[in-house]
Amino acid sequence: MAKIVFLSGAGLSAPSGLSTFRDNNGLWDEYDLDVVCNYQTWKKNFSIVHEFYNKRRMQLKEVKVNKMHEKIAEISQKYEVLNFTQNVDDLLERAGCKNVIHLHGELLKLHCTNCDYKINFTLDDDLEFKIAKCPKCNDNFIKPSIVFFGEIAPLYDMLYTEFANLQKDDLVFIIGTSGAVININYLLRYSRAKAILINLEKNQYIDESLFDKIIYKSCDECVDEIEQIIKQWKS
Ligand SMILES: [Zn+2]
Repeated sequence: MAKIVFLSGAGLSAPSGLSTFRDNNGLWDEYDLDVVCNYQTWKKNFSIVHEFYNKRRMQLKEVKVNKMHEKIAEISQKYEVLNFTQNVDDLLERAGCKNVIHLHGELLKLHCTNCDYKINFTLDDDLEFKIAKCPKCNDNFIKPSIVFFGEIAPLYDMLYTEFANLQKDDLVFIIGTSGAVININYLLRYSRAKAILINLEKNQYIDESLFDKIIYKSCDECVDEIEQIIKQWKS
């Protein structure tokens, strides 16, 4: 059965009010990314790392799903879908998506780097990790389950494999990603699927010639176009 693959990035959650490190505002200006997202030094900067991720986690209570999260959830219920995202928020899940593949981790999760003990927050919790030893092994280093700079992203293998195995009647939506972190051109060069790009604007990283259709708009403003594309694809 033909399938639909979504690969989303920060542009998907931007209309919900979540800023990213490429925007210049708020939280991201207060902290040095080289300190709070760095796998080589995070243990040394332990308390500031957790302060930063506690604040980001608490921001989740202030944001809501947008129309594109809802559209992806609706499509996921009707078709065979693979839902890759670089986003660490829980908005796709809140919209009703199951089995979201979070390539860069999840804000609501932490784990012990020694024994892999897991802490899962829900939005009903106060979302602040009060720095403590691992309750299972007593290790000092519980880490946000976010892929830091310099850390291996374990799910990239799956991403590359899935794209390489796509068939020509499959459909790919690349949504709200600059292509600066994940090389979209590389993924599409090895994929046979029809590909659609939805981004706010043209950028230097993405090769437009690899796409069958390009929409430069805020992603919450093109759900009707998505519907049309899927209708055409099905017929
Ligand atoms: Zn532990």
